[in-house]
Formats: sequence, structure tokens, C-alpha cells
Amino acid sequence: MRLPWRPLTLSPAPGSRASSVPAGMLNFVPASSSIDAQSLERLRGFVARARRLFVISGAGLSTESGIPDYRSEGVGLYARTDRRPMQHAEFIRSARARQRYWARNFVGWPQFSSHEPNSAHMALQQWEERGKVHWLVTQNVDALHSKAGQKKLTELHGCAHRVKCLGCDAISPREELQRRFVALNPDWEAQAGAVAPDGDVFLEEEQVLHFRVPSCSNCGGILKPEVTFFGDTVSKPVVQFVHDRLAESDAVLVTGSSLQVYSGYRFLLAASDRKIPIAILNIGPTRADHLAELKVSARCGQTLSVIQPL
Ligand SMILES: [Zn+2]
Repeated sequence: MRLPWRPLTLSPAPGSRASSVPAGMLNFVPASSSIDAQSLERLRGFVARARRLFVISGAGLSTESGIPDYRSEGVGLYARTDRRPMQHAEFIRSARARQRYWARNFVGWPQFSSHEPNSAHMALQQWEERGKVHWLVTQNVDALHSKAGQKKLTELHGCAHRVKCLGCDAISPREELQRRFVALNPDWEAQAGAVAPDGDVFLEEEQVLHFRVPSCSNCGGILKPEVTFFGDTVSKPVVQFVHDRLAESDAVLVTGSSLQVYSGYRFLLAASDRKIPIAILNIGPTRADHLAELKVSARCGQTLSVIQPL
């Protein structure tokens, strides 16, 4: 038996808006069949039994907000484009790479920063408010959990809304850097080429060459998004903090992540070692499927929003 998707019943937290994109416009969500009643009931039971739920979220949670992921079959960035994530070493080593990175980031920022939390983010925020979620660890850098009002939150890979100076470690808002970009490149913005619907930016080499990148206003150091690029590692204190929260938990729920990246996967290994039960909600296979007692392949928003965490 298949259940029809129910309309969203959650109301957004004050000061935030849940996006309600018609299903036909969810271009970045991989195809999936609707969740069957039995899987939904088992997931409900899993969440109901948990007293201190540890949640790990990934890119699959944000695709319903219009942010593409990298790995989804057919719709992820790897499948659709030749875009690959920035490598840490290249960013550090090459002024040219930083210039290209920031030029594209500058053009894409207004759209990227305007994405809103969807019903999955809103559901998890309500679960926290009702005392169900002990801690939420996200691998996403899009700030959508904090926009939804999530408090017990670790952004494992940082957040694109913050900028860090590699010289003095000062953190500043990304929005502030946008204003500096505009001031330094007064004629540049108008020349920038097309921005694809997903924020992908196409720039000519010539345009990039003329893009001026500011340095830290305190120390003149290199500015980098406060984001863990590929090839970099999450700091040890952050990893330890998350392990400690996991140890206090009695169940783990993975939402919207294939767990291909070790920095998230290691917490599933730790949970398995501690015999903490694991449920996975993700479209498509994950690296931790063999560790989970329950695997549900369905959209996060439509599934989480119909589970009342009593
Ligand atoms: Zn500095």
C-alpha cells in the first residue's frame, strides 16, 4: 500500500519561512517512489522510541530548498556539470584559484544566500523544541538549519555565511565581504555572465582576471569561507565535541546524506561500536546501509514532516 503525500502541517518558526516549492520544480531532488506505509510506520516507531536522538543531515536535506547536491544520480552537480568542489590545497597555494573561486562565489552569493529552509529543516527544529533531538550535526554549509531556528547544532563543515582570515583567525559575516567586493569591483558586477538557476556561475577567464579580492582588514591575511574544503580536515575539538554528544544519545537518524565523506561517516562507525541503533532516511544507497537497522528511501521533507515526535 502506498500513502499519498499529506500536505505540510508544520508552521514555520517565528522569523523564518518554509519554502513550498511545487513538486514539479524540485529539479535537484533525485527521483524516488513514495514511501510505503510500513517503512513510514517503522521510522515513526524508531523516532518515538528515541529519547535523545542524534541527527546527521546532508545535502539531500537541502535539495528540496533548491540547492543541488554533488552526488545524486542524474541531478547532482557531478552528473550535470564539470563543477568539482574547491580543493583546500589549491585555495591556499594559488592566488589565481582564490580569485576564480571568489569571483564565482560573488556572483552566485545573492541567490545562494537567499535559499530558505524547507519542511525537513522545519520538522527537525520542531523535534528539537519538543525535546526529541539531543543534537544535530549537519554536513551542509548553507545555514538552513540555523535559519530554521535549530539551536543544538554543529555545522561540521562550517558555514558559507561566515568568512575566516587565515592570518588572524578573525571571523566575519560573508555579507560584509559582499559589500567589499562591490566596492572594489564597481564596474564588474554588470559584466558578470549568466547565473544558472542552481547558482552555477559561468565566467570568462578575462572577467576573472579583473576581479579584485580584498584581504583581511585587520592583518592583511587571506580570506577564506569558513568552510571545510575537500582535502582539509575538521578540527579535532569539533570532532570530539560531536563524539561526546553522540555518546549521550540513544538513537541515530541520518537524513539526506550518502555518508560518502569520512568526516560524517565516522560518527556512524562510532554509533555502531556503541550499539546505538541507526536509521537512515535517504534516496539511494549510503555508505552506512549495512550498519542501519532501518533504511528508508524517500524525500526528507515529506517524510519528516508527517512524523510527530511524541
Ligand atoms: Zn586577519
